[in-house]
Amino acid sequence: MTTPPTPVLAGNWKMNHDPASTRVFFERFLRLHGLRTGATVIVFPPAISLEAARSALGERRDVQLGVQNVHWESSGAFTGEISAHMAGGAGARYALVGHSERRQLFSEADADVARKTCAVLTAGLIPVVCVGETLEDRRAGRANDVVTRQLGRVLDAVRDASGIVVAYEPVWAIGTGETASPEDAQAMHDSIRTQLASGGKATVPILYGGSVKPENAATLLAQPDVDGLLVGGASVDPQSFATICAAGA
Ligand code: PEP
Repeated sequence: MTTPPTPVLAGNWKMNHDPASTRVFFERFLRLHGLRTGATVIVFPPAISLEAARSALGERRDVQLGVQNVHWESSGAFTGEISAHMAGGAGARYALVGHSERRQLFSEADADVARKTCAVLTAGLIPVVCVGETLEDRRAGRANDVVTRQLGRVLDAVRDASGIVVAYEPVWAIGTGETASPEDAQAMHDSIRTQLASGGKATVPILYGGSVKPENAATLLAQPDVDGLLVGGASVDPQSFATICAAGA
């Protein structure tokens, strides 16, 4: 598994853009976002829009696709679920795992996140493993412990962590307009880097996510251990996502 070139600029559309509006997004985005090497741009549409995204991208292989969630089994009686293998067949090269909305709204436990990460790797996709503390955790002074535990469960489960990407997304900063200060983000990324380095995986890219906007993207990317950005709300609009991608150029 090859490590994606950094910076990684990733857009998580969440439950936005059906197949028709996905085509419109890419028509506009590809006009704004010129062909570029040396960075990785990934869009995570809803699974139902992956095929539309793939066909809208055509020959533009500089923009990659990912899926927002997968089941840990490869097939079977799991109504409503999709597997990493299926997502790969629809054009995904990446898969988000453990996004805080999955953990909080759909009760995903650390063990589920670990199983999903393994399934994504087995399917030949790159997992983007999301970790992050709640506001309560931060106020209680246990932000580092929570993130270390979440990542530790994944590192214990995978045979080789060199094929993963980590996204630090403090829960209190997601969709709230609150962003971690560049210094706070850097401090947590440094701690994650140390945890990865103790397993010999210091080169795993670590992305920051949480209310990233065109206005704060460059400052966050300037931090030495911020290897990229995972963007939610601001990635749904082609102009703002293109501006964020340009900040990583
Ligand atoms: C996300 O969904 O991963 C995210 C970071 O959302 P937002 O940018 O809207 O806070």
